[in-house]
Amino acid sequence: ARKFVLAKPFEGLPKLTDFNIIEETIPTELQDGEILAKAEWWTVDPYMRLRSVANMKIGDQFTGGQVARVIKSRCAEFPEGSQVVGYFGWRDFTIYKPVPGGPRMYSSIQKMPEMKGLPDSYALGCMGMPGNTAYHGLLDICQPKSSETLVVSAAAGAVGSLVGQIGKIKGCKVIGFAGDDDKVNWLTNELGFDLAFNYKKVKLDETFKNYVPQKIDCYFDNVGGEFIYHVVQNMNEFGRISQCGSISAYNAQRKPGELPLVPFDYPLFRFNQMKLEGFNVRRWANNWFDGINAIRDWILEGKIKVRESVTEGFENIPQAFIDLLEGKNTGKQVIKATN
Ligand code: NDP
Repeated sequence: ARKFVLAKPFEGLPKLTDFNIIEETIPTELQDGEILAKAEWWTVDPYMRLRSVANMKIGDQFTGGQVARVIKSRCAEFPEGSQVVGYFGWRDFTIYKPVPGGPRMYSSIQKMPEMKGLPDSYALGCMGMPGNTAYHGLLDICQPKSSETLVVSAAAGAVGSLVGQIGKIKGCKVIGFAGDDDKVNWLTNELGFDLAFNYKKVKLDETFKNYVPQKIDCYFDNVGGEFIYHVVQNMNEFGRISQCGSISAYNAQRKPGELPLVPFDYPLFRFNQMKLEGFNVRRWANNWFDGINAIRDWILEGKIKVRESVTEGFENIPQAFIDLLEGKNTGKQVIKATN
């Protein structure tokens, strides 16, 4: 089996030399209860940049989800030939012993969702962890109402592109921000966003003042940083902010003792009685398939469109990860196994 391990702690944007491929011999015979799984799809996600800083040592394997095929099994629950969503990390072959009747959700092993003909890789995106992030992070936390105005940052990514489309289904006026003109065109021309802007080219405050005179009711925050300052300046009373991610700072290197800069207008936030709530998608582990099945049905009804950026080959996982952090992906970044 092959696996990717940390070769060098990241400094700023990760580099290809920070990753090492290691060959590993795995047992030829399975023990009772074990499965041997072969990866078919991997996912790279922004949280991996944070995790590797927080608690990875040199030589540790990268974690993460994959869609894998069970090629040998001594576990009745996961028979030979079936597919699983396994949290096996950046490796090709895995021997794993599912806990009988154990948790079947994100971060362990689960059966594939009922795909109803949709591509397997969707189990890592719109019908997996990012899908649930968008579904619950928007609906449970922002609780958007029809005709309200929703702003989404990193809007052309895996989570953001779903958030905006779910917002449209709920009757909101949806405004997206992304870092590239093609992405911006995709949001308005194909996904039905009411407005979209390239945040690298516009001034946020001016854009909100000119194009969002009705002001913002809900903000789905994927990026952190100064974006939220401008949203708060242009939000209605009782505005709600779903704090999902802060990718604008994931590569930032803070010196020990240095405080993060959070440009936040507390008096205005308070006067306008706004709400900000952070969340971890694991919160919905016990109803994991509600969001996934809802998104699947919207896709099948033609109400949600999905795009993926597909990289081919196990050896290219690190490059796909770097591309994701640099914004080269549109929609969900996945990696397809080629052998
Ligand atoms: P995306 O598919 O959105 O990919 C990341 C995107 O972030 C890039 O395509 C890029 O798009 C954008 N980006 C990169 N750098 C910056 C920057 N400096 N400023 C603004 N945008 C930037 O990833 P996901 O959809 O998987 O994740 C989106 C967010 O959701 C992340 O912050 C992630 O950590 C968070 N998340 C949180 C979860 C939770 O439980 N709270 C669970 C899953 C995800 P662009 O071209 O627009 O710059």
